[in-house]
Amino acid sequence: MKRGALALLLALGTQLAWALPTHAPVPGGVAVVDLGPASTPRPQAAWDDRRLAVVSDGGRWFALLGIPLDALPVPLEIRVRAGSTVRSIEVPVGTRHYPEQRLTIREKRKVEPAPEDLARIEREQAHTADLKRRFSAAEPDPDFARPADGRLSSRFGLRRFFNGLPRNPHNGLDFAAPTGAPVRAPAAGTVIDTGNYFFNGNSVFIDHGQGLISIYMHLSRIDVGNGQRVARGERIGAVGATGRSTGPHLHWTVLLNDVAVDPEFFLKTR
Ligand SMILES: [Zn+2]
Repeated sequence: MKRGALALLLALGTQLAWALPTHAPVPGGVAVVDLGPASTPRPQAAWDDRRLAVVSDGGRWFALLGIPLDALPVPLEIRVRAGSTVRSIEVPVGTRHYPEQRLTIREKRKVEPAPEDLARIEREQAHTADLKRRFSAAEPDPDFARPADGRLSSRFGLRRFFNGLPRNPHNGLDFAAPTGAPVRAPAAGTVIDTGNYFFNGNSVFIDHGQGLISIYMHLSRIDVGNGQRVARGERIGAVGATGRSTGPHLHWTVLLNDVAVDPEFFLKTR
């Protein structure tokens, strides 16, 4: 087959794949990599030592690679194992501009934690690092519904300054909504953690399968328990302003292969 014809077929395949996230091979984005016809058994894909989600759509297998926000514009190499065959695929990485954002937090301690807060923060980071690395067998449904109504108030990737101090970039998407507004699961999954965190406030973690994990923060109320199965659209809690927050909103993080990616790439309408 001619190269042009193959490229056209691949492009068509991606377009027909309505359930997949948007193919956006940029820092903070998702590369949707065609692995061939789904008539063969599901291949395994990995980037470094991280397993990747492999989902079927439109009769083909696709690997979903979450690209870190700090990735350089150089190709990433993924390894694909099908039966006894292992091959490498180079995924080109483009560039994307993320603007700055300056916020004022009234509770100074949430920006410059007191010495007694640091032990708690460290404990929480170790706990969530384990959760984020999970890779469960279930095939995820990457066609997400919106978890909250309301305007998108802060986009993913903003380079942030709190009270003038540089902090980590914004690793999720914010919805402006009043305290008590419902927060819903964007797709089916299993609740793998609920709790109150120093920065993130009341939080819920949902494992959708194969390293696709979503997190809901600053909640005023949590309506689900650890280990609970949730359906697409099921209420999991309510919007709030707990933790480090300028006001009531939902912060939504989406992880793929332990990498926070822009949740907007998963939002389509059914
Ligand atoms: Zn946020």
